[in-house]
Amino acid sequence: MSNKIISLKTTDVRFPTSDLLDGSDATNKDPDYSAAYLELETERGDVGNSLIFTIGRGNDICCDVVEAMGQQLIGRDLDTITTDMGLFYREINSDSQLNWLGPHKGVVHMAAGSIINAVWDLWARVEGKPLWRLLADMSPEEFVNCLDFKHIGDALTRNEALAIVQKNTATRQDRIAELEKNGYPAYTTTPGWLGYSDEKMQRLCREALASGFKHIKLKVGESIEQDIHRCTLAREAIGDDTRLMVDANQAWEVDQAIEWMEHLQPFKPWFIEEPTSPDDVFGHKKIRESIGNIQVATGEHCHNKVMFKQFIANDAIDVVQVDACRLAGLNEILTVFMLAAKYGKPVCPHAGGVGLCEYVQHLSMIDYVQISAEIGERVIEYADHLHEHFETPIEIKNGAYRPPSAPGFGVRMHQSAIDQYQFPDGSEWQKRLATGPSPH
Ligand SMILES: [Mg+2]
Repeated sequence: MSNKIISLKTTDVRFPTSDLLDGSDATNKDPDYSAAYLELETERGDVGNSLIFTIGRGNDICCDVVEAMGQQLIGRDLDTITTDMGLFYREINSDSQLNWLGPHKGVVHMAAGSIINAVWDLWARVEGKPLWRLLADMSPEEFVNCLDFKHIGDALTRNEALAIVQKNTATRQDRIAELEKNGYPAYTTTPGWLGYSDEKMQRLCREALASGFKHIKLKVGESIEQDIHRCTLAREAIGDDTRLMVDANQAWEVDQAIEWMEHLQPFKPWFIEEPTSPDDVFGHKKIRESIGNIQVATGEHCHNKVMFKQFIANDAIDVVQVDACRLAGLNEILTVFMLAAKYGKPVCPHAGGVGLCEYVQHLSMIDYVQISAEIGERVIEYADHLHEHFETPIEIKNGAYRPPSAPGFGVRMHQSAIDQYQFPDGSEWQKRLATGPSPH
């Protein structure tokens, strides 16, 4: 019996997080964490969901592009699509007219990712498996067939990827058991938002330590004096044994980053994240070679696998921070994990926002089982915001993500949250419109 996709619906959902400066950093002063939310439904009543994370204005544009690109799904049978997810990835990414707006970057690429991730969610739900297990249970050939090597074949071939997965197959059940037992380590960004007071930052640092985190990240980049002050207070709260990371959110020129990090060197940051433009491979390499043993991390704004190839294969960064919504879905994300594995770079996915934690836990677990086969120093980002709006929110225990057990990719929202925060017709936004200035 067929299971054709019969409808596609997007919703612009925005949360007024700028009220409390959650998510504030040197570049993004007042984010309203938002989701361009997608629901696919089949003729049998199965529903698949995905979201694109944005920080407010423009979320509606993402919805519009998903609607435009997703029409090709209507009438297609799920079984036919999932027979060859690699082919499906290429089909979704080959709309030449829409690709003129990219190609393979920006809103069109994020929209492709949304459509592809919703189908992965749908498939995992129909199979009754959490997404990470759907991928963990694939044979090496099935797994590698989901990847895409176009324009990266000079750095990674299909045969090399296949060899990496084949080498791990005999031991993968051990790693699944390890995940079920101990989870996957996380680091927290919750204390570090730039808009938080000193007292709030120190209190949240102490709370993070008490709940088992061993890594804490602070936002930096507005002023050297402020950063030295905040790093001093953070070190006071967390001691010398906890890892401290810093994130400049693209604030600096290349030479400025090098000078700035000299001032932060005494606080022993484990890495500096997004020191400069996210497109600047040359600049990251120069920074990396100029700041001693502080590692350089980037990737949350890296817009496709070809950019990642340049950062990774050129040794321009140490830590790869793939984002769940910026690339064209799971297929491209796993291809980046594979590139990183070949070149010996750890992937520590970007998360926080809304729904990103729910997404990326699956990615790192798939990586551990099928690709890198080690955790080593890898950690998944975590931030304590907005999880209550999801049907199956993440679970953190002793500073580690518990492996998800519910079927799917994990980003289905409660209908009540959508009703409240849909923009601008949801009850929360209507209340604001009635009582104050127009919300953006
Ligand atoms: Mg960041």
